[in-house]
Amino acid sequence: VKDINDKKIHELELLRQSQSDPLTKLYNRTAFGQIVNEYLNKKRESSSALLLIDIDNFKYINDTYGHLCGDIVLQKIAQALLEVSHPLDIFGRVGGDEFLTLIKYPKSIEKVAEYCQNMIKSTSKVEYQGTHIITSISVGAVVSSVSLSYDELYRLADDALYRVKNNGRNNYCIIAVSYTH
Ligand code: GH3
Ligand code: MG
Repeated sequence: VKDINDKKIHELELLRQSQSDPLTKLYNRTAFGQIVNEYLNKKRESSSALLLIDIDNFKYINDTYGHLCGDIVLQKIAQALLEVSHPLDIFGRVGGDEFLTLIKYPKSIEKVAEYCQNMIKSTSKVEYQGTHIITSISVGAVVSSVSLSYDELYRLADDALYRVKNNGRNNYCIIAVSYTH
C-alpha cells in the first residue's frame, strides 16, 4: 500500500510541476488552456468571464531595477492578484508579464468591473529591498452570458486589453457579449 501511495504522490508532484510556472507557481499557458477548456466544455450555466492582465511598461522596470527585481515584481503582482480573487477562479501566468483569470460565476458586469478595479488598486506599488516601485496593470475583460469557447473569450479579452493599452494603460475595459431572442 505504501509503495502505491508513494508512486501516486510522485505522479501528482510531476503533474503539478508540468502544469505550473516555476516563478509564480500559477498554471502555465498550456495547463491554463487545458483546464479552462475542460471546465467550459462540461459546465452547465452559459455565463463566463475571462480577464487578460498585462503589467504596464514592465520592460522599464527590468531596465531600471534589473531583471531580478522584475522577477520579484512578477511574483508580488501574481500574489496581489490572487489575494483579490475568488478561490474558485482559475489563474495562470500565460506570458512574460501576462496573466489570465477565468471567473467561473460572474454575477454581473458591475461585479466584474469592481474586481478589475480591485486588481488595479492592489497592484499599484511593489516593495523591493525597501524601495516602493510604482507599478500598474491593464486589464482586458470579456463577460458573456452566452456560451463561448476559450479561444473566442481569449480573442475578445485581447481586443479589450488592446484598447486599454492604446488609451494610456492603468485601466480596464470590459466587452460584454449577450443576445436576446
Ligand atoms: P506594455 O505596457 O505595452 O505592456 O509594455 P511592456 O514594457 O510591459 O511590454 P511587454 O508587455 O511587451 O514586455 C514584457 C517584458 O517582460 C519583456 C520581457 O523582457 C519581460 N519578461 C518576460 N518574462 C520575464 C521574466 O520571467 N522575468 C523578468 N524579469 N522579465 C520578463
Ligand atoms: Mg506589459
